[in-house]
Amino acid sequence: MAALQCAHCHKPISVSKVTGTRGKGFSAQIQCYHCQAWLGRHAILTILKVIGFYTAVIAGVTGYFVEGLANIITPVIMLSLILTGVTHLMDHLLVIEAPEEDGKPTDEIK
Ligand SMILES: [Zn+2]
Repeated sequence: MAALQCAHCHKPISVSKVTGTRGKGFSAQIQCYHCQAWLGRHAILTILKVIGFYTAVIAGVTGYFVEGLANIITPVIMLSLILTGVTHLMDHLLVIEAPEEDGKPTDEIK
């Protein structure tokens, strides 16, 4: 269970309780059920994290099967893992759209 924190009201969000979602893939957004703010991830960071992860995997597999590339493969894996780690640390929810004070949406409010 991924524990998220709302970037707007800073209350914990349980992913299984989220009822409002929109968008797909890297631009997917969720709606906080506490304050109705729309939250999303930083798309570029998420993409960099995925690229870093797969680069490390591909470089590792290539280095395993192709001999004589260790001098190139090893630093590539190191850099990819660093990229993945750094982007993972920076990856958190952003407020995409703050809740409106009046004219609330008619979604269920708990
Ligand atoms: Zn919230």
